[in-house]
Amino acid sequence: MSSTASENSSAGVRWDLTTLFETSEDARTALAAALDDGRSFRADYRGRVAELDAQGLAEALERMNSLENRFSRVASYSGLRMSVNIAGEDERDINAAVDQGLVEAQNLLRFFELEWIALDDERAATLIAASEVERDRHWLRSIRRFAPHTRSESEEDMLAQREPAVSAWSTLFDQVTSSLQVPFEGADRTIDEVLSFVRDERRETRIGAYEALFAALEPHLSTQAHVYDTIVGDRLAMDRVRNHTHFRAPRDLQNELPTEAVDAMLDAVERHHPIAHRWWRHKAKLIGVSKLKLADQYAPIGESRRFTYDEATELVASSLARFSPRIEQVARDLYADGRMDAEPRQGKRGGAFCASVAQDARPFILMNFTEKLDDVRTLAHELGHGMHFELSGTAQTALTHHPAIALAEVPSTFAEMIVFNRLLAEETDPPTRLALLAQQIEGAFATVFRQTLMVRYEASAYAMRSEGKALLPDRLGEFWIAANRPYYGDAVELPDGYRHGWAYIPHFIHTRFYTYAYVFAHLVSLALYARYLADSDAFSQNYMQFLEAGSSDTPADLLARLGLDITDPACWNEGFAELERLVTMAEAETPA
Ligand SMILES: [Zn+2]
Repeated sequence: MSSTASENSSAGVRWDLTTLFETSEDARTALAAALDDGRSFRADYRGRVAELDAQGLAEALERMNSLENRFSRVASYSGLRMSVNIAGEDERDINAAVDQGLVEAQNLLRFFELEWIALDDERAATLIAASEVERDRHWLRSIRRFAPHTRSESEEDMLAQREPAVSAWSTLFDQVTSSLQVPFEGADRTIDEVLSFVRDERRETRIGAYEALFAALEPHLSTQAHVYDTIVGDRLAMDRVRNHTHFRAPRDLQNELPTEAVDAMLDAVERHHPIAHRWWRHKAKLIGVSKLKLADQYAPIGESRRFTYDEATELVASSLARFSPRIEQVARDLYADGRMDAEPRQGKRGGAFCASVAQDARPFILMNFTEKLDDVRTLAHELGHGMHFELSGTAQTALTHHPAIALAEVPSTFAEMIVFNRLLAEETDPPTRLALLAQQIEGAFATVFRQTLMVRYEASAYAMRSEGKALLPDRLGEFWIAANRPYYGDAVELPDGYRHGWAYIPHFIHTRFYTYAYVFAHLVSLALYARYLADSDAFSQNYMQFLEAGSSDTPADLLARLGLDITDPACWNEGFAELERLVTMAEAETPA
């Protein structure tokens, strides 16, 4: 709607991408030049990595870092352009050119990692220890973890050739979900639009929204199941090609997390389902029903005041300022430098993200600010990423600044907690306090518990497919309900149509076992927040170093420096203690 922008206090808050490239033509020129340099890098080093001494390796790494930054800048520019003008002709052209260029870049540079991985352990250890390569040391060490799962260069090239066919299946899935029209309340609505009604005040509207969604999914179940069946079948075949021994192995490896630690975390989540049941029962009382239905899960509680864009940006920056002045500056620069796009408008994508752009660039944030409490939370989240990217970008190289998703979501979640706790400490209006607590609790549940049950659902599907059985819609429906049941227990009634709930979730299709990274980040952040409360000054100093460290070490080692031992199964209990505290606070806040 065109009128929203002018009424919204974020009107006109658009980023300025000309600081990256003046025009898309300049981006194309930069891409072509980087590809040229990629070709000469290949000519200089292919077949020679094994001969390099420490100085030679350092020089090669410097060129790799430079190429990485240049490709990353072009790719980000094109992605950012597209995200605010999805249908734009220039945007689609530059995007197509960049996609093609990046595939070429990967093909050009793949040899370097493969030859490095192929070095014998002793020679590699000597080079890794050399002071010349100190800044890229973790990258050199850590990519060797893929050694047992990597094939020869020509085999890897051939495997990469299948990528377009594999991604065509996920495109089909996305087309079904994005073109789905859900008739509801007198209009055809997208999935996101209809799901926004599950937060409606009227119970019959919330129930109706779910019913309409599940009914609309029904005719597409066999297509969606077939896509998943095909993709899982392909992944299992690739696991055999790459010698992976369990379904989650490629993801754990990518996240650099020990499989036992992830297992212990998922088990700990499931042991704490009673906290969720306790909240659901309390929520039933709050909204005046005898038992909660699924559709009541996100029913609004309390009523939060609204926040203008200026209030929200000030609130977040000043909350972070208590934590560290340098971090406050990161936020204020982001606002002032035209690196923030907050105004909702036609043609812009939904949701929010923070783009690191490149190690030698500064981050950009996209969000759709609508003056709600949730937008304040989103802003804090994205700024959490922003401060991480900025600090690690300053201290690390292109190859060591950007951590894998599990660790990357820690600073964003932690920043949300800083802002939430400040809001709660200062807020005196009872309905706003209750709204704040409910939002925090339900946000944590949707992450910690719900993303865990998604992992269990996926594991069931992989197990069945690996036994040579097809993933038919009914079977997926049974797995989905079986995975959900322990979370909701007998505290929440699940509607019949909920067995179709798997059929629109993109994570299963795009990246297997993606969702536990959110669980990890949330539980780690809760535990870190407890440490911050215990000794703010000492923690703040260590935390700045943690941000600067980027991915210059394993997640386990980086977190150990903050006093958190993720290899100890008991470490997860701290997060649940904090969740329990929030539920207790919300119970106390409730008017008798
Ligand atoms: Zn995030």
